[in-house]
Amino acid sequence: MKTPTIVKPDTAKSGANMTDYDAFRADFSWDDARALIDGLPDGKLNICHEAIDRHVAAGHGDQLALRWIDKAGNRTDFTYAEMQRQTNKFANVLRARGLQKGDRVYSLHGRVPELYIAALGTIKAGCVFCPLFSAFGPEPIHSRLEIGGGNAVVTSARLYKRKLKGLRDRLPALREVFLTDGEAEDCVHLAPLMDAASDAFDIEPMDPEETALLHFTSGTTGKPKGVVHVHAAVAAHHTTGRLALDLHPGDTYWCTADPGWVTGTSYGIIAPLTNRVSMIIDEAEFDVDRWYDTLEREKVNVWYTAPTAIRMLMKAGAGAMEGHDFSNLRFMASVGEPLNPEAVVWGNENFGMPFHDNWWQTETGGIMIANYACADVKPGSMGRPMPGIQAGVVEVTDEGAHELTEPLAMGELALRAGWPSMMRMYLNQEERYNKCFSNGWYLTGDQAMRDSDGYFWFVGRSDDLIKSAGHLIGPFEVESALMEHAAVAEAGVIGVPEETAGEIVKAFVALKPGNEPSDDLLLDLMGHARKKLGPAVAPKSIEFRTNLPKTRSGKIMRRLLKARELGLPEGDISTLESDES
Ligand code: AMP
Repeated sequence: MKTPTIVKPDTAKSGANMTDYDAFRADFSWDDARALIDGLPDGKLNICHEAIDRHVAAGHGDQLALRWIDKAGNRTDFTYAEMQRQTNKFANVLRARGLQKGDRVYSLHGRVPELYIAALGTIKAGCVFCPLFSAFGPEPIHSRLEIGGGNAVVTSARLYKRKLKGLRDRLPALREVFLTDGEAEDCVHLAPLMDAASDAFDIEPMDPEETALLHFTSGTTGKPKGVVHVHAAVAAHHTTGRLALDLHPGDTYWCTADPGWVTGTSYGIIAPLTNRVSMIIDEAEFDVDRWYDTLEREKVNVWYTAPTAIRMLMKAGAGAMEGHDFSNLRFMASVGEPLNPEAVVWGNENFGMPFHDNWWQTETGGIMIANYACADVKPGSMGRPMPGIQAGVVEVTDEGAHELTEPLAMGELALRAGWPSMMRMYLNQEERYNKCFSNGWYLTGDQAMRDSDGYFWFVGRSDDLIKSAGHLIGPFEVESALMEHAAVAEAGVIGVPEETAGEIVKAFVALKPGNEPSDDLLLDLMGHARKKLGPAVAPKSIEFRTNLPKTRSGKIMRRLLKARELGLPEGDISTLESDES
């Protein structure tokens, strides 16, 4: 909190969608926000109509909707009219293959146009879209398809063969696999079906409370949770895009998040398109020169990225920026993990504007706390609640949650329930869902403080979930995969701080009798975990232990493992049963 506030010049406010935070907040109502979207006759709604079709109907069909840059650097453009045709075709393909309203269509793909067309076409047909991260290994893919009852998957031949094929007999609900390239047994090739399909489709009019999206988020103690979002959420996607990212129609916008995670859907597909911007999609992974080239050549106006990437750009130094012209950039934002104050200041010094940190999570569906184009930025703070959102710091006691109003009191970050993009349930896990609420507050699982100006400061998570390079990882999922190795008796998984990725996954493993720690076994375990979980989730480091600290009920005390690893106080260990010998 020592880094000086970055005071916005008046010019930063002119032209912004919101020019005075307090006044806008006082006047705001979600009904007004809902009035900014079209809707369909008889109170119906469809996110795809708001994202694509309405812009074509309003005469913007020729505007660029999506520019795809493939790995080799070639660009392919899709106008709004083309996206309408393609999503109509995809919706017709789903129908022709027997997929009806409410069926669940998953994607498992790198960033290619087919993924975006499938996402929007699925929603257009009234099916539920569920993205999977393409760097997941077979186990996370299986659990998410099983819990969500996935009926169809859109993927590539390579990903299918490596990750999905071996799971098919364990996924009875999965009827259809669409391959965007190549061929494989028991799959259909998407391209000829798309060619043959009509480009006219009557969009499925949805009740606003019907499900549109299913996202998975990790759990600390159990399987991943299926987070259900409905069509009505689009009002929040649209408005948060306008206010927190300051999106204007016609902007060139680049969201670097992968659509396998919620940011890549809410702000990599829906919010930008409902705001009628032109999106840049880069198929390639992070690369300093490529990113700077893309920002300059594509004349990006609004850029939404993440702390790990920003820290990697900072590491590359000012030399990498030399000779680039970023004069088209108007607004830069960051999300997903704590953004260190130095990164905000670095943005200000090198791009002439700070990175605007904002905070939200899979469950909230959209940005809840943000730094705005019109407001001063306190480096290191997540900013202030969105208009329409009441945030607080609460303490949860036996009487439930109560707000701590004194400035800088530390407690759990909580939100007053009731905005349009709030999750409607954890799929088939009512009890877990109900536990998120107390005395009218939604409890986020994060620890935070609010200062006397109403800015929120992230302190840490109150659970054991790990944020590595922006990906939320559940220790239970990693522990379960390690336990499947024949030599492993127990596993405890924690996040340890790391300079670039924020945290990395570290596992402690106790072996079954008859097994001895060795370098070979370590390598074997690492390989086993990567194969099962994929590189994004597998531990980066594994350590052998004779025994792991456990509670009397047999639960591994991750907190204690972490405290010991980091040399922190061990806290309350009264429930400790067994310990390392
Ligand atoms: P996910 O549901 O995967 O999007 O992860 C949400 C979690 O990421 C939050 O509950 C926080 O723990 C963390 N997170 C998201 N944005 C921020 C931020 N701006 N600062 C600190 N942590 C963040």
